[in-house]
Amino acid sequence: MSKELSADVVIIGAGICGGFVAKELAEAGLSVLVLEAGPRWERAQVVENWRNMPPINKSESDYATPYPASPWAVHPQLHPYNEYPQVDGPDASAYRQGVVRGVGGTTWHWAASTWRFLPHDLQLHTTYGVGRDWAVTYDELEDYYYRAEVAMGVNGPNDTTLKYVAPRKQPFPMEPMPYGPADRLFTEVVARAGYENTPVPQARNSRPYDGRPQCCGNNNCMPICPIGAMFNGILAITKAEQLGAKVITNAVVYSMETNSSNEIVAVNFYDPDKNSTRVTGKTFVLAGNGIESPKLLLLAANDQNPDGIANSSGHVGRNMMDHPGILMSFQAAEPVWTGGGSVQMSSITNFRDGDFRRDHSAIQIGMNNTSQNHKAGVKALQMGLVGKKLDAEIRRRAACGMDIYVNHDILANPDNRLRLSTTKKDGLGIPFPHITYDVGDYVRRAEPSSRKHLQQIAELFGATEIESTPYFNPNNHIMGGTIMGHDPKDSVVDGWMRTHDHRNLFIASGGAMASAGTVNSTLSMVALSLRAVDAIKKDMLHA
Ligand SMILES: Cc1cc2nc3c(=O)[nH]c(=O)nc-3n(C[C@H](O)[C@H](O)[C@H](O)COP(=O)(O)OP(=O)(O)OC[C@H]3O[C@@H](n4cnc5c(N)ncnc54)[C@H](O)[C@@H]3O)c2cc1C
Ligand code: SF4
Repeated sequence: MSKELSADVVIIGAGICGGFVAKELAEAGLSVLVLEAGPRWERAQVVENWRNMPPINKSESDYATPYPASPWAVHPQLHPYNEYPQVDGPDASAYRQGVVRGVGGTTWHWAASTWRFLPHDLQLHTTYGVGRDWAVTYDELEDYYYRAEVAMGVNGPNDTTLKYVAPRKQPFPMEPMPYGPADRLFTEVVARAGYENTPVPQARNSRPYDGRPQCCGNNNCMPICPIGAMFNGILAITKAEQLGAKVITNAVVYSMETNSSNEIVAVNFYDPDKNSTRVTGKTFVLAGNGIESPKLLLLAANDQNPDGIANSSGHVGRNMMDHPGILMSFQAAEPVWTGGGSVQMSSITNFRDGDFRRDHSAIQIGMNNTSQNHKAGVKALQMGLVGKKLDAEIRRRAACGMDIYVNHDILANPDNRLRLSTTKKDGLGIPFPHITYDVGDYVRRAEPSSRKHLQQIAELFGATEIESTPYFNPNNHIMGGTIMGHDPKDSVVDGWMRTHDHRNLFIASGGAMASAGTVNSTLSMVALSLRAVDAIKKDMLHA
């Protein structure tokens, strides 16, 4: 006989979204059980794994390798590429996502840039006649943004004259960190061509905050902050556990049971040996990120919901979005010294919004402040240099190497679709996700001017050895697969993240986001998850 477990609220996924839902609901006195497909990692061990990684993986920014993927909770690995998820379509290159699966989730190795979207991002269709509107307005989300910022510990600029900074009623919890040498120089140089380079809001401590130390600026954020100055999902989960939430690791949820009212009554998970456990609950929250959540909903199709759970609209797995990017690398004429401070400190915001959005994508332009040391070392060795010449070349490349980028605002397109793979399965026999992706003409119309911006910035730095991606690259901001809307016929969840089809099933992830904006999306995901928390509390505590 299989085992049975039960809780008031059952949460699937122990990433940042699941972590905050667990923490808030445990704090409210509800019994909370979190089912996490992957293992539990120790910070010190991951730091050690990173130190021992081959130089080539480091030079190619392979951040997943220090977090070994389990056969039962496969996550994308780029070097070597493990085809998770499978991707095809005209712009498959733009959907090679980074995700890690384990307690704490993908924010273990994120950059912690925590932007708010702009009010127009949430009302793209109403404002510019393209794309879709969210089922919640900026004004309705503002308090949740602030709650998310306080919970995570976000530092940011309170200067209201900065271009296209989202409106806010309260100041950031912390003052911004000082720029390192590269961000100072970049700001000064691009200003000559009229670009306004502004501080990025970041979930890392510019002063001791919430029992965690101040960031010491040693630039190791991706793949791990060795001292925990950067916020990540493990911190939310730890708080949830201290408040009584239970986390079961290596628990891969694969099915959902529904009753005659089409409420969820139980989910079932496999352990690594494929033993099954049934878990009953009153409310269920799917927090498996924007790829795994739609995958599970499709996988869990049952007699009552033959096209998948929460999928009467047919929109589960549709509208998959990220920020299609273009990356340019070059050697500047003079030393820039990227690598002082955190990995992303500033960004050009001039083109985040404007009437041009009727015709083509808005963009974010920036410089990666990631240290160039690994790249410089591998390149100098490949040149066959030895001794003092090798040292000098590594130093020159580490000082002068720069990576700049443009990220585009993609429109929701139902044909950008996740299905279950028919050819690839994980160690438990569960199909891989298979995604078809096309960035669309809206992005393509912006591409020529995006490339001109990058070229102009490179010229300002007297660039040589200029290389840029001829294709669109991904940015790990997974949005759209369980899209929100007011109409149950063309959306999966409402403005409270409640699925239209199942009264007691909520989705806490970027999957709900109905437009992509130009900026990193996790703060918005957390804000939406906190909205789900309020709806659940209303159901369960004030019924
Ligand atoms: C290198 C990198 C840098 C990034 N930098 C930024 C940044 O600067 N700013 C920003 O906003 N975003 C950034 N992101 C994106 C950010 O990490 C994600 O948006 C965020 O982690 C999503 O959180 P989540 O809780 O939805 O999902 P995740 O963190 O992916 O967690 C989901 C969890 O659910 C579990 N799960 C899934 N399915 C099941 C199942 N069936 N059963 C049980 N458990 C399941 C998974 O194993 C996983 O642990 C970055 C991402 C990467 C890869
Ligand atoms: S710069 Fe260093 S201390 Fe600061 S968040 Fe990144 S890894 Fe942590």
